[in-house]
Amino acid sequence: MFHVEHTEKYRSNAVYSTILPYFCALKQIAVRTQNNTMFQEYDVIVVGAGHAGCEAAAAAANLGSSVLLVTMNMQTIGQMSCNPAMGGVAKGQIVREIDALGGYSGIVTDRSMIQFRMLNRSKGAAMWSPRAQNDRLQFATEWRNMLEQTPNIDFWQEMAVGLLIHNNKATGIVTSMGLEIRAKAVVLTNGTFLNGIIHIGEKQFGGGRAGEKAATGLTAQLESLGFEAGRMKTGTPPRIDGRSLDYSKMEIQDGDTPCGKFSFTDTPTPTQQRCCWITYTNPDVHDILRTGFEQSPMFAGRIQGLGPRYCPSIEDKINRFAERDRHQIFVEPEGWNTVEIYVNGFSTSLPETVQYKALRLIPGFENAKMFRPGYAIEYDYFPPTQLKLSLETKLIENLYFAGQINGTTGYEEAACAINGGYQCPSKNQPTNTAHT
Ligand SMILES: Cc1cc2nc3c(=O)[nH]c(=O)nc-3n(C[C@H](O)[C@H](O)[C@H](O)COP(=O)(O)OP(=O)(O)OC[C@H]3O[C@@H](n4cnc5c(N)ncnc54)[C@H](O)[C@@H]3O)c2cc1C
Repeated sequence: MFHVEHTEKYRSNAVYSTILPYFCALKQIAVRTQNNTMFQEYDVIVVGAGHAGCEAAAAAANLGSSVLLVTMNMQTIGQMSCNPAMGGVAKGQIVREIDALGGYSGIVTDRSMIQFRMLNRSKGAAMWSPRAQNDRLQFATEWRNMLEQTPNIDFWQEMAVGLLIHNNKATGIVTSMGLEIRAKAVVLTNGTFLNGIIHIGEKQFGGGRAGEKAATGLTAQLESLGFEAGRMKTGTPPRIDGRSLDYSKMEIQDGDTPCGKFSFTDTPTPTQQRCCWITYTNPDVHDILRTGFEQSPMFAGRIQGLGPRYCPSIEDKINRFAERDRHQIFVEPEGWNTVEIYVNGFSTSLPETVQYKALRLIPGFENAKMFRPGYAIEYDYFPPTQLKLSLETKLIENLYFAGQINGTTGYEEAACAINGGYQCPSKNQPTNTAHT
């Protein structure tokens, strides 16, 4: 019995090695044939469906371009990687500018808002900053609905691993299944996914975001084409089970009444809002956090990337501002129908046990249960000096970079990819390019 199995296995191996080259050649032909029948040549391919990709796809499609939105996971279209909030200081006006340009970010924000506040009201009007807390799931659903209702946008769920380049012009993409899809222009909006590495204490693993894999292939090809790449890092706080918190020990933070909104269109003004809460760290919390510094990927030098200018980690804050004996923590619901809580101000990549112990010393968090720990992420970006004002790359014609791939500061600036979408070659190209 064993002998027969062994012989058959051996035989089949020998057969495979003989027919493999033919099989591969046939497969190539099959793939090419499949390409020709499955996909038209698009005006624009947008890679990635985060804030940047969504706005770029909508903008190009609304100018009449045929658009293919290629993204690794269609369930995460418009996913908010970190805080479920839009706007805030130096960001709120960007959402309104995007709205004025015909973008969807303001509309999606209004439709999924659970709280609105105009920040900095105590200062002059120039300092006022609209900010919305959003329902994370609803935000993503609204984005997907808006895109599905936009004529001219097709969708394809897969990883883009390479670009088709001809005579220094982008002519399409290659996917992880080996499909070649052609277009007159390609917009890359890969966000934090390019060779992403997630860090929690001394643990490291590949990923573009918690629970999602990193994107590979594109950086190496772009570097071989002469692009300069760098590494950036950012972080996110732990998520908490709201049922385990004692809100009586925190200050309530209500939304504005009447509730404001972002879009200049007729989006409805929410009639209900959810409240957030404020609490503070203390010297005991800081002492526990310091016990993790040796295992911190940032302090131990395992993270090499630069941080964009937002969301400093709690370890960074207590290190740099050692004289402060408390830091403010905003306790923010993740949506209308969930108990999940976002601990704004407690971004960290310290070991999960250190995070847990420190959290439990914060007033109201004595019995806190974690849904998931905070983490830091490192990823490739491309310094935007390699771009024209239109976001087209200087090196490769008809190739555009938009969003976090350029090292932008967050959702709002990423959504300015609307400009890239408007600049792609299209049937109804605007003649006025002042908005770049
Ligand atoms: C842990 C963490 C914390 C953050 N903290 C903050 C913060 O506090 N404040 C803030 O404003 N911003 C924060 N950010 C950054 C914020 O998420 C980004 O600025 C914003 O999401 C950028 O939008 P984007 O569209 O450029 O990229 P992303 O939102 O990252 O979207 C990228 C999209 O591209 C897809 N994709 C990537 N590569 C490929 C490929 N090869 N093929 C197909 N699809 C691909 C992904 O699936 C995803 O849909 C954080 C990000 C992370 C991960």
